[in-house]
Amino acid sequence: MLKFFNTLTRKKEEFKPLKGKEVDIYACGPTVYNYAHIGNLRTYIFEDVLRKTLIYNNYKVKEVMNITDVGHLVSDADVGEDKVEAAARKEKKSAWDIAEFYAKAFKQDLKRLNIMEPDEWCKATDTIEEQIEFVKGLEDKGFTYKTADGIYFDTSGLKDYGKLAKLNIEGLKVGKRVKQGEKKNVTDFALWKFSPEDEKRQMEWDSPWGKGFPGWHIECSAIAKKYFGDQFDIHVGGIDHVPIHHTNEIAQGEALTGKVPARYWLHGEFLLLDKGKMAKSKGEFIALQTLIDKGYNPLSFRYLCMEAHYRSKLNFSWKSLDAAQNALNNLYNKVRELDGEDKVLENYQNEFLNTINDDLDTPKALTVVWKLLKSNEDAGAKKSTLLYFDKVLGLGLSELKRVEIPEKVRKLVDEREEARKNKDWNRADELRNYIKKMGYDVEDTKEKTKIRKLRN
Ligand code: AMP
Ligand code: ZN
Repeated sequence: MLKFFNTLTRKKEEFKPLKGKEVDIYACGPTVYNYAHIGNLRTYIFEDVLRKTLIYNNYKVKEVMNITDVGHLVSDADVGEDKVEAAARKEKKSAWDIAEFYAKAFKQDLKRLNIMEPDEWCKATDTIEEQIEFVKGLEDKGFTYKTADGIYFDTSGLKDYGKLAKLNIEGLKVGKRVKQGEKKNVTDFALWKFSPEDEKRQMEWDSPWGKGFPGWHIECSAIAKKYFGDQFDIHVGGIDHVPIHHTNEIAQGEALTGKVPARYWLHGEFLLLDKGKMAKSKGEFIALQTLIDKGYNPLSFRYLCMEAHYRSKLNFSWKSLDAAQNALNNLYNKVRELDGEDKVLENYQNEFLNTINDDLDTPKALTVVWKLLKSNEDAGAKKSTLLYFDKVLGLGLSELKRVEIPEKVRKLVDEREEARKNKDWNRADELRNYIKKMGYDVEDTKEKTKIRKLRN
């Protein structure tokens, strides 16, 4: 049985898709005005584990991911500059080039983290027509009104607006921390924004309400509707999307169709840096390339993320990344040594499945990996079972090659064996140093001397 924690009900629920063994997933994609930081990437790693777990359970998954290349404003309160246009100004490039450049960089990051690409990528700017249609539908149903700067969604028209986040609407009103401006309710949000009169936007379109651009939330509603219709199975994203972005997607969907657009809402917790939030807009963030430049294997970061449950906060530190990299290298070395009969161990497979199917418990799944490695099972069976697990874990185990030890190194190892037999410890140490200089090391175990490559 597959169970996921559904933010909508705040419960771990048995997963039942709408169409038998087919699962439709919508994932909020990146806003392409900068590189993704490793916090963003933690969310995409969680989503990849989700997707691979479904595939592992023989579901046929279709995932759609949007690319936000317009409409995401600097402030969630529908004011301020468009993030992509602001970056264009700063980098002296066109908004289109900025979006193209960072979308490409994002796709490269996914590849480096062994994250499967979605079945469909969809840019916000490629669905302007669908978004306008959606807003027209909301207008027909009486959910919209006009202000000086755009067309807004009237959240008071829904009786349970904010249920996803269990928003305290009264509290928001009293607190007055949210700028209301011309909006009728503090929680109302922009569906269509008018282009400013004093400045020419690079990205703008004609609409029934005048020249402008779509709001950020309508993009995801319109794209999900385009690919999946009124309702689909799973909607994923980072935890910060609960109170505003996904709350508003639900409002738009319910207003138009009477249905909550997705049945299961799964959210990944934040990656924290020095106990604080990591944000793209602050400018001081760690990209995947930063890790690579420092000599880390990107998959060490994937391993680190899987050591924590996706619903727990994870505090990033270089020390924890070092530890993850050591663990991963250790795993690689052990898997490289395994050889023999090809047989998947059913008991371990079931144990693994039970952990991963229980709301994606990757920390427990990793303990099953190490338990199997330490067991007395046949080496070949260990290897085939681990390769099977890796269909979910995505640590690149199937690409590992058995280490070919050069003849010269083998000779030195034999010589060292001889020296040890003769209790000539000085000579043995000297030979070990030669071996190390050649990029290998020896480990003396009871049965035999093992040789391993020092760098990957
Ligand atoms: P953005 O590109 O800003 O639209 O965000 C892309 C994804 O990253 C969204 O699903 C966010 O919820 C998520 N996200 C943003 N910051 C973090 C963080 N520090 N840790 C984990 N996920 C994050
Ligand atoms: Zn979205």
